[in-house]
Amino acid sequence: MSLVQLKNVKKSYKLGETWVPALRGVNLEIRAGEFTSVIGASGSGKSTLLNLVGCLDLPTEGSIQIGGQEVTQMNELQQCSLRNEKIGFIFQSFNLVPVLNIWENIELPLLVKANLPLDQRNQRVQSVIQSVGLETFKHHRPDQLSGGQRQRVAIARALVTQPSLVLADEPTANLDSKTAHMILDLMAELNKTQNVTFLFCSHDEKLIGRVGRIVRIHDGLIVE
Ligand code: ADP
Ligand code: MG
Repeated sequence: MSLVQLKNVKKSYKLGETWVPALRGVNLEIRAGEFTSVIGASGSGKSTLLNLVGCLDLPTEGSIQIGGQEVTQMNELQQCSLRNEKIGFIFQSFNLVPVLNIWENIELPLLVKANLPLDQRNQRVQSVIQSVGLETFKHHRPDQLSGGQRQRVAIARALVTQPSLVLADEPTANLDSKTAHMILDLMAELNKTQNVTFLFCSHDEKLIGRVGRIVRIHDGLIVE
């Protein structure tokens, strides 16, 4: 089943008097259960692509369907609820809340989301904490953890709402290469065992070929 379908997607940013083309006609299909890696140099349009798929921004032109729904024809509220219900995000800089402990950081999206009863909420948090191997760190705060462990927290936080799609924008860029590979392997394992669909992007050629399908992006165009 096609989970994401981009057709002729163009995106330009206005910079002063000129328009900067970031995506110049992208076609991409992602099927449920896939692990897709988008590889491209800095400035090639990876973040723009992920932001559009994540309904954080709208294209200048073209069609984006998620779960068969046309995103470009939704109002802001509909886009927001699609994002909340179906999409999880993992960022380069982890974006954890420093004053909350690990458990609370992971629980946070569930508090924002529709009211789950406390016992179900606890079950969800417990289960994702286990799947990223951070059981013993749940009462720690983010600054007591290593970069790799912080990114594990961010992965758990992205998964706790049980999204259909997880978007990871250069999640390994702040990590040493051994830790980067461990994080990628963890995402690959979660993709297999929990059937989570991942769209991962990186500028790092060394990560190529480790998991799933590879899509190359160059100057705002996909060059398979
Ligand atoms: P990547 O994530 O691959 O590094 P981006 O999607 O961030 O690439 O950027 C693609 C192009 O769009 C670059 O030329 C970048 O300078 C430009 N760009 C990205 N965001 C903006 C913005 N908000 N305003 C103007 N130009 C932007
Ligand atoms: Mg980027």
